[in-house]
Amino acid sequence: MRFSPEPRISCNDRGMTPTEVSSTTTALPFAEHLERWKGLIYPGSNAQKHFQPHNGSLIAELPSCARSDVEEAFALARSAQLIWAKRPLRERTALVRRFHDLILDHDSVLLDVVQTETGKSRASAFDEVADIALNSRYYANSARRHLAPRRRQGALPFVTSAKEYYCPKGVVGMITPWNYPLTLPITDALPALLAGNAIVLKPDAQAPFSALAAISLLVDAGLPKDLFQVVLGDGPLVGGAIIDNADFVMFTGSTATGKIVAEACGRRLIGFAAELGGKNPMIVLDDAPLDRALQGALAASFSNAGQLCVSIERLYVQDTIYDTFVPAFREAVNNIKLGTALDFSYDMGCLISQEQLDKVVGHVQDAVAHGATVLAGGSARPDIAPFAFEPTLLENVTEAMALCRGETFGPVVSLYRFSTDDEAVALANDTRYGLNASVWGSRKRAQAVAKRIEAGSVNVNEGFTASWASTDAPMGGFKESGVGRRHGREGIVKFTNPQAVATQRWMNIAPLPGMSSGTFASTMVKGLKLLKFLPGRD
Ligand code: NAD
Repeated sequence: MRFSPEPRISCNDRGMTPTEVSSTTTALPFAEHLERWKGLIYPGSNAQKHFQPHNGSLIAELPSCARSDVEEAFALARSAQLIWAKRPLRERTALVRRFHDLILDHDSVLLDVVQTETGKSRASAFDEVADIALNSRYYANSARRHLAPRRRQGALPFVTSAKEYYCPKGVVGMITPWNYPLTLPITDALPALLAGNAIVLKPDAQAPFSALAAISLLVDAGLPKDLFQVVLGDGPLVGGAIIDNADFVMFTGSTATGKIVAEACGRRLIGFAAELGGKNPMIVLDDAPLDRALQGALAASFSNAGQLCVSIERLYVQDTIYDTFVPAFREAVNNIKLGTALDFSYDMGCLISQEQLDKVVGHVQDAVAHGATVLAGGSARPDIAPFAFEPTLLENVTEAMALCRGETFGPVVSLYRFSTDDEAVALANDTRYGLNASVWGSRKRAQAVAKRIEAGSVNVNEGFTASWASTDAPMGGFKESGVGRRHGREGIVKFTNPQAVATQRWMNIAPLPGMSSGTFASTMVKGLKLLKFLPGRD
């Protein structure tokens, strides 16, 4: 077994040496768009070079913001929001519909840019394009239903009416990671914009181009000037400035940073939603459709080289089928094709950075040093790309190993046996996380197990796509995997301040003139006894 040879190339902020960085951008398939995309970034006081992870060549130099730049970006967004919030909802939904069509018309350039800045496979990049199309269609079609004023039950029948309105928060600050650089900023931005907000976005500095490409399509669809600001730069500095100026923060990233963001939002008493890390389990019951389960496990474990928040890192297989399932799974994992080209000719791309490679290598080395067995993979592949790592299966993983409980966020899966459904549920729930889970088996049995898993989304006879793509259903974390939800009604209403406007007719809710407080109280007691028979009670 080979173990993590030192990567041959290491370069700049991704850990690469400058000598191996080409300064040309002419070979980029999206070179003609770069100047326009740059123009969408708030001009910062500094500059930072951005490189391709799979070959170390330069993509472009982009502005990087200081705190004062972020404050200015918020001021522009705030003015634009006041006008935007007055535009009728139908104009906003029409814009998102046009954006939906533009995304599908420009899929090829979007796939190129996602692959170029992340090193992921084209199939994983396509998941992002499809996800934006799904979310834009869903929210364009459903925003009216979610945001229309709703009649609520008034305090007293006939004399009190109450209505709930959804007022925009104002300027939403968004902080996003590098792993899904197209879908994560945009699919949360769409409901925020539809709800009448402006946005100041800080994409991760390792992958800012995909969001810029999508925002340029939003501009083509009619997005007003200044409504969507992009600021780049250091995480704590620029992210901190976002939290200090925003009316609501939408954060996606690690649980550790999520706690810092939550504390800072708490100090300002502003709302926030956080989509955080996971250590997601898959359970394969002995009446599962094994071929489908195997394909599902491959996709859920190795999409985007495992750098997927909902990807599977713990695979529990019932002991009656373990010796059939695991050898077949191992063979399939050994057949996964690694590559770097901007086409669909391979299955898995490379990791994003030296830091990410170091983490994956560190987890695997630590596991092996403590007695884990490598069934497949286990090695870095600098012959393919500086940060490539093989899809890896481990057995005999124990509590002594860092990856037993810690999120690897790479292509590494641990295999375990279980004997009963109760045991599988207990093992799956034995984690501080609760983002995603997957259960394979006969439908009723798997559904019964699924409902007992402590996770925000559970896929029955699917790995992650069924719940992720069901955009009408909420998506988010239990336990340390998050606060709040994206998708569905929750994913748009969170960007509003619900306001109750209650109107009283004919009489006040108080004693009638000349009535004593005692008589009022006894009249109310009789009234309240009757009110219990009104429809709408539980
Ligand atoms: P990260 O927490 O290091 O960074 C996320 C973002 O926060 C980046 O833009 C970063 O610059 C910024 N940031 C860093 N420090 C900050 C600070 N002090 N204040 C404000 N912002 C700060 O996460 P990452 O390594 O980029 O992403 C990987 C993690 O994200 C994994 O744990 C993964 O599970 C999680 N993730 C979760 C979801 C989800 O939907 N639940 C989706 C994608 C990724």
